[in-house]
Amino acid sequence: MERLQKVIAAAGVTSRRKAEQLILEGRVCVNDAVVNELGFKVKKGDLITVDGKAIQKEDKVYYVMNKPKKTLCTAEDAFDRKTVVSLIDCPQRIYTVGRLDYDTSGVLLLTNDGDFANQIIHPRYHIAKTYNLTINGILKGEHMKAIQNGIVLDDGIKTLPAKLKITEKDEKKNQMSFDLTIYEGRNRQIKRMMEALGFEVRRLHRKQLGFLRVDDLSQGEYRRLKPFEVKKLR
Ligand code: URA
Repeated sequence: MERLQKVIAAAGVTSRRKAEQLILEGRVCVNDAVVNELGFKVKKGDLITVDGKAIQKEDKVYYVMNKPKKTLCTAEDAFDRKTVVSLIDCPQRIYTVGRLDYDTSGVLLLTNDGDFANQIIHPRYHIAKTYNLTINGILKGEHMKAIQNGIVLDDGIKTLPAKLKITEKDEKKNQMSFDLTIYEGRNRQIKRMMEALGFEVRRLHRKQLGFLRVDDLSQGEYRRLKPFEVKKLR
């Protein structure tokens, strides 16, 4: 930990005295918050800006979480509902890589690395995503064929061929659970695929993203990705 004015001066921006003045004038931010006290200590990896210009870049951080149901992937919410970002203890400003719906649980990546996030969600990058879901009915052969060949959604776009594996069939409750692996990430894709076939999704959990799973994390738990995992996902 170092004093903020010392780090600013060491970056060659100005003298220590002038750095103190910049701080008192409210022109210095640490991790996006204005800091105007001279005793403030910063560490390597904190984002430091003077008049909005970065003089020390933040460290890139990568997390995987088992997203709980009833949480949002947005930065904040007008109705004060819980966000996934609020569950993570991290000084950097992070955001989710793509989104899961409010009622969806499972594998979710969070980072402050925009290039990494864009690579993963880019339509050209066909990373496999496996969901386990329960629907209000029983799939017939024709439905399975449609899923495997691609389904035309409500906006006229046809989905890429997907893979299907049935995990539970309950004739009494008239419901079925199965793993569905898709290779693209359209908005509400799974629910829209099921809607197109005349079904409703009762439960949705993302069990795998690429090679990443969260079997060892309970809902709401998270961990930092290891450098080799970040590399492998790219
Ligand atoms: N597809 C959906 O419909 N919802 C999700 O949360 C993820 C995929």
